[in-house]
Amino acid sequence: MMRGRAFFFMLLMVSVMYLSVVAVPVQAAQLRVECPEVIGIGLPFVVKVESDEPLDKIRVEWAGKALQASGQKSSSMEFLLGTDVMKSKPGTETLRIVKLGLSPLSVETSILIEDRKFPEQRLTVPDEMVTPPAAVQARIERETAEIRKVLGTASPVSHLALPLIRPVPGDVSSAYGLTRYFNDQARNPHRGLDLKAALGDPVHAAAAGQVALAADHYYGGRSVFLDHGLGVYSVYMHLNEISVRQGEMIEAGQVVGRAGETGRVTGPHLHLGLYVLDLAVDPSALFFGKAVQ
Ligand SMILES: [Zn+2]
Repeated sequence: MMRGRAFFFMLLMVSVMYLSVVAVPVQAAQLRVECPEVIGIGLPFVVKVESDEPLDKIRVEWAGKALQASGQKSSSMEFLLGTDVMKSKPGTETLRIVKLGLSPLSVETSILIEDRKFPEQRLTVPDEMVTPPAAVQARIERETAEIRKVLGTASPVSHLALPLIRPVPGDVSSAYGLTRYFNDQARNPHRGLDLKAALGDPVHAAAAGQVALAADHYYGGRSVFLDHGLGVYSVYMHLNEISVRQGEMIEAGQVVGRAGETGRVTGPHLHLGLYVLDLAVDPSALFFGKAVQ
């Protein structure tokens, strides 16, 4: 009899516990995300995340890639994501944000990537810059692997401030996204921004960051890769001279080198690349503090 009563009591307790879980609304911590619903292909965009608690550890999943931010004391944070004229495809892409910790929270939303049409550009360069000789093939492969490794690394703290600083005052000579033909042969679209600059002009860092790579590459010539954190890199190519060392911390606006015409060029200019999680985005969208144009 006692055993039966104890069993009944236990059953009652379990039911009450169960009911209290399903019937009494619990004020759960929330994670809110603000981002565009539609984005043109090749454009960067800002994502804002807010929570009721400090966002000390966040994981962001976008376009099959992920980054982790840590050390945040604030309950809101902003970061940059984007799409790539060459690597992204028009259609819906999922953005997932997870607040890591003892009781993880996550939020998921979808963003529509819209196609855009880009003009054609035909350039004439020495033949070895269109079809590289076999002797430099290994060099190009090594450099490509080195670049992919750098741009694929997302460090956990952001140094980025928007709007970006214009690295040189010159106008845009070749916009982002141009469909390119070198000596009448189709090549990758233009995945950066060309700014007019004379030989020797100082080139300034678009934002604060750490020099992730300073090297002389076959296509990019003398190049500086700045790591702004959370997967964002700015890249300065075709420099005549590099003024910074790998590993060095750079302030926004600091001179990283002098403009030149090294690598695959038709004359002196600055090629500015901006990458987010190894996706090349249009830097010009971020010069005036407006992420989406
Ligand atoms: Zn360029």
